[in-house]
Amino acid sequence: AKMQGKGKYLFYNPSMHEGIIERLKIESHLQNALTKNEFMLYFQPQYDLRNSKITGFESLIRWNSPELGFIPPDKFIKIAEDNHFIIPLGKWVLEKSCEFIKKVHEMGYKDCIISVNISVVQILEDDFTDIVVDAVKNYGIDPSYIELEITESVLMESFEIIINKLNKLKNMGFKIALDDFGQGYSSLSYLQALPINTLKIDKSFIDLIDAKKRKRSITDYIVILGRRLGLSIVAEGVETQEQMNYLKKFKCNKIQGYYFSKPLPLEEALKIIDKNKG
Ligand code: C2E
Ligand code: CA
Ligand code: CA
Ligand code: CA
Repeated sequence: AKMQGKGKYLFYNPSMHEGIIERLKIESHLQNALTKNEFMLYFQPQYDLRNSKITGFESLIRWNSPELGFIPPDKFIKIAEDNHFIIPLGKWVLEKSCEFIKKVHEMGYKDCIISVNISVVQILEDDFTDIVVDAVKNYGIDPSYIELEITESVLMESFEIIINKLNKLKNMGFKIALDDFGQGYSSLSYLQALPINTLKIDKSFIDLIDAKKRKRSITDYIVILGRRLGLSIVAEGVETQEQMNYLKKFKCNKIQGYYFSKPLPLEEALKIIDKNKG
């Protein structure tokens, strides 16, 4: 009877039910959201730790659905990956990112790059390389101004195919960043096999800076390791001055986080760069 009860409980778990309903709702509205222009791209600046100058932005998608309200990317990207809607959506993100960085360059801020989140589902598409190349060509941007952010999940699937594509893009001048480093796999041996320029240290490690010395040394170690491998190090989710000062001491290259700025809509991002120019 106990087991039966347990089984019933599992089946009727209301939060589980809500989860499925929510997912279905998101999925049904996702498909039309692109044609209905419901997505927006926000831009979060990254700063050089030595001089506090903006070196680039990360583009982050926002979805404000008239029916469902604001849905954070953590809630819909996974669904978009599962049903492959991420293919047209990712293409849109790439194009909007190119359009943005073109505007920044036209304002005379030439050293600025744009980092674009790329899903492994996108990379696995046959025409992924062409889509990326077409986007920069259409906007007349040099590939060196585009950084493709990938996560460690690329290590899980079709490793060889993915490495080949990334290598090809890197040879054309695109930059590649490993995002959320330390979150998943963190297979240190893979780090050398991946054709990357940049290591983005996950926020969870930045948060450790405020913790006890022993935990903090994990963060130090990642920065030192990345530097040894000749990578540019970006600290993500920096929220306090203490964290910033600490990262400075350890020769981390760039920081991104609320301490400097939240992700901004286009017009505000252009304004902040104008202010930072001087
Ligand atoms: P991510 O790529 O790791 O992006 C960093 C996330 O941390 C962003 O959340 C950003 O707003 C947030 N963040 C930045 N600084 C701080 C800080 O100081 N404190 C805190 N608490 N958070 C900070 P967001 O925009 O909600 O995006 C969540 C995730 O959704 C991203 O994580 C990325 O994995 C995914 N995502 C967002 N836009 C895209 C996209 O265009 N394409 C793909 N494939 N994924 C995207
Ligand atoms: Ca990212
Ligand atoms: Ca990240
Ligand atoms: Ca993340």
